[in-house]
Amino acid sequence: MNIAFIGLGNMGAPMASNLVKAGHSVTVFDLMESAIQALESEGAKRGESAEAAARGAEVIISMLPAGAHVKGLYLGRNGEPGLLDALDGKPLLIDASTISPEDARTVGSAAAERGLSYLDAPVSGGVGGAKAGILTFIVGGDSAGFDKAKPVLEAMGKNIFHAGDNGAGQVAKICNNMLLGILMSGTAEALALGVKNGMDPAVLSEIMKQSSGGNWALNVYNPWPGVMEGAAASRDYQGGFLTDLMAKDLGLAWELALGSKSTVPMGSQARNLFALHSAQGSGALDFSSIQTLYREGE
Ligand code: NAD
Repeated sequence: MNIAFIGLGNMGAPMASNLVKAGHSVTVFDLMESAIQALESEGAKRGESAEAAARGAEVIISMLPAGAHVKGLYLGRNGEPGLLDALDGKPLLIDASTISPEDARTVGSAAAERGLSYLDAPVSGGVGGAKAGILTFIVGGDSAGFDKAKPVLEAMGKNIFHAGDNGAGQVAKICNNMLLGILMSGTAEALALGVKNGMDPAVLSEIMKQSSGGNWALNVYNPWPGVMEGAAASRDYQGGFLTDLMAKDLGLAWELALGSKSTVPMGSQARNLFALHSAQGSGALDFSSIQTLYREGE
């Protein structure tokens, strides 16, 4: 298939790379020249702009930081027209970024007015999952779009869920990431408590992994440096899933709770922790660096 891929960051780059490996013809665009060059060296074609990359595409995939970027891309910004008004055909639009359900529905409605199918398809699985092509896709949108997207998404992921209509993919993803934020900060807290009381963090991690406190952070994303080879904690928290992106997702959970009159005390606590961590200068580090908040005064 002819696929345009826009947004080649920590997640987008390995995802686009897997589409190339699966034999698709992939044209890429990012605001960072170095990101485009890296994908070109893996066999992708260069787009000089998002509009140029989208020309002739059957499927357009975007993987951008937040809702403002996604709305800017598809609907336009500063009076400039967006991608929806620059398309030459009727490609399927798939946005894999994590944004608010409201923003996803806004773009979805604008696409539908132009006879286009738009899916919100946020992912779970982290950079490791993106590289290995085993992401979970959580899709919101119509069934026809979902059926068309599935074989494309299977080149990048293992579990492809249809959550419901536009916005449902984002609701499910936001619930998941609120839980992840709670689990990561709770894991960091437990590790710090154990270490302060004489435990080896690797031994404590192994015990909790095999006990009732076991969770994804302990299994594949241990936040204590040196415990898990390959985890962001063991490379000075570089790359991975940025603290600022986790803070954004916890903010989305908070907005969702306000709008639906839900109470999220644990999610609110996690949001405050990650916001504080970001304010202290760790926004561009992997989110597992929340561990360092608990190590102060050691
Ligand atoms: P990132 O900041 O590493 O990458 C974003 C990329 O988008 C950058 O390369 C940036 O230059 C590019 N970009 C921004 N605006 C653009 C525009 N208008 N046109 C073209 N390119 C543009 O972010 P990421 O970690 O890849 O995450 C992307 C999305 O996926 C976010 O919504 C995030 O919440 C979500 N997510 C991330 C992870 C993770 O582990 N990193 C996991 C699941 C979901």
